[in-house]
Amino acid sequence: ENQKETLGFQTEVKQMLHLMIHSLYSNKEIFLRELISNASDAVDKLRFEALSNSELLESDADLAIRITHDAEANTLTITDNGIGMSRQEVIDNLGTIAKSGTAQFLQSLTGDQKKDAHLIGQFGVGFYSAFIVADRVTVVTRRAGESEGVRWESSGEGDFTIESADRDRRGTEITLHLKPDCTEYADGYRLRNIIRKYSDHIAVPVIMVKEQLASEDETEVKAPEEETVNSATALWTRPRAELKDEEYQEFYKHVSHDFEDPLSWSHNKVEGKLDYTSLLYVPARAPYDLWNREVPRGLKLYVQRVFIMDEAEQFLPLYLRFIKGVVDSNDLSLNVSREILQKDPAIDTMRGALTKRVLDMLGKLASKEPEKYASFWKEFGQVLKEGPAEDYANKEKIAKLLRFASTHSDSDEQNVSLTDYVARMAEGQEKIYFIAGDSYTAAKSSPHLEIFRKKGIEVLVLYDRIDEWLMQHLMEFDGKSLVSVAKGALDLGALDSEEEKAKQEKVAEEYKDLVERVTEVLKEQVDEVRITHRLTDSPACLVVGEMDMGAQMRRILESAGQ
Ligand code: ADP
Ligand code: MG
Repeated sequence: ENQKETLGFQTEVKQMLHLMIHSLYSNKEIFLRELISNASDAVDKLRFEALSNSELLESDADLAIRITHDAEANTLTITDNGIGMSRQEVIDNLGTIAKSGTAQFLQSLTGDQKKDAHLIGQFGVGFYSAFIVADRVTVVTRRAGESEGVRWESSGEGDFTIESADRDRRGTEITLHLKPDCTEYADGYRLRNIIRKYSDHIAVPVIMVKEQLASEDETEVKAPEEETVNSATALWTRPRAELKDEEYQEFYKHVSHDFEDPLSWSHNKVEGKLDYTSLLYVPARAPYDLWNREVPRGLKLYVQRVFIMDEAEQFLPLYLRFIKGVVDSNDLSLNVSREILQKDPAIDTMRGALTKRVLDMLGKLASKEPEKYASFWKEFGQVLKEGPAEDYANKEKIAKLLRFASTHSDSDEQNVSLTDYVARMAEGQEKIYFIAGDSYTAAKSSPHLEIFRKKGIEVLVLYDRIDEWLMQHLMEFDGKSLVSVAKGALDLGALDSEEEKAKQEKVAEEYKDLVERVTEVLKEQVDEVRITHRLTDSPACLVVGEMDMGAQMRRILESAGQ
């Protein structure tokens, strides 16, 4: 165990490093935010483990992050006294990318550096961003409770070395040997600026040695004085009025491991029967693994400002799984576990309230900032469509948030709300009509739409896989039933003029014999043959019975092997 080993990076790490260095060159300084974010996470984890094992604190209970620099050596060092890493943890965390689906993600990159920078952003680059500014990185770390330290070193190309190391204190020290063109990051004033800009919200103190003006008397040696550079209070505990948008945005990047600003957020303190604070964010972009059900997701849970766990999934329903943020409870016990969370009735109450918060935040976004809402809908609309089936109690609220393509706008863009639709309904129209198909083009060219076009009645055009499932659970909106134009007899009677009705009766009489003959011929294949007034150009069409599954739903079940 003691000898020095050279190990290769996982292929994905190599690809990631290459991409990062080439696509983030214009935003180099964010490496420091990432390293401070990791140090803060490490301190949170130590504090949490020390709740049940106070020996881990050793004689070093003042938790802090220290940043030192050496302009002569062109180095920068970030030190924390957090949880540290064992040898195996170093190999796993700093040699591989643990997230599932990384390989596919990397394949999806375009090679266009601007676009890839965005993609990498939402993927989160973390520790490896050190190599944007450093041509060599040294990590010396000791896991709390373990006696032996580990030293890791790499130049960010193909491999890294690992060996045992002496380290008298717990925690991690990361030294960046800066690239020749990155000397600015060995400057105290520049570093302070970056820390205040990106890491002010970090609850752990970020400490630096005070800059000393060159003394005239070189023989006078002053002891270095330290100062805390950030505000070092948990951001969500501060009053809303005091917080700037930029602070909320930077905090988001820390909790979500996202690179981009969030679209919106909602910060609330609840007092009364339950006492908790929540800070919930809507990301701007869907993560590449939104549809992977195995990926853990949820809020960061704190109890009385002590970090308890990441990805506490009990606080929001699955259809809101894209929401990021923090919940800090004053009621839960510090030794709360996932199992306890599942059973605690207080959690149900919080989940109900947080769900409403998110739906209200989205409702507000839709009414106040429709452009942002449109971009939200593009990213997350399909997930929200799971809502009515999962959360019956909030069906009406969710329904107001839904957006569809429609014959009114004649484009595949989903931008029509049910409220818009109802406001435009024709005189005498009592139902909300929709057509569902495998694609926008297939749906909108359905012969079922002919009569609606002729009568000038708007029809929602649904083409997402989940749409028929959604309609089955939604059933109605604002007291009006949602009806597929491809199902059953269309009762457009109320919309017909007297003249038209008379004409229809006459036609029915004239073709009675024909209908009987066709019924006889097709009786094995269809339930019923009817004269229809719904077609204007096509001679005939197949209709699904009112109680039958829609064609799209049937295909979904078939492809699932049912
Ligand atoms: P992320 O923070 O999204 O998990 P990073 O690339 O930033 O990804 O870090 C990878 C992992 O390395 C972390 O999850 C953590 O386990 C470990 N790590 C990084 N920095 C530290 C640190 N200062 N102390 C302890 N562990 C760390
Ligand atoms: Mg990180």
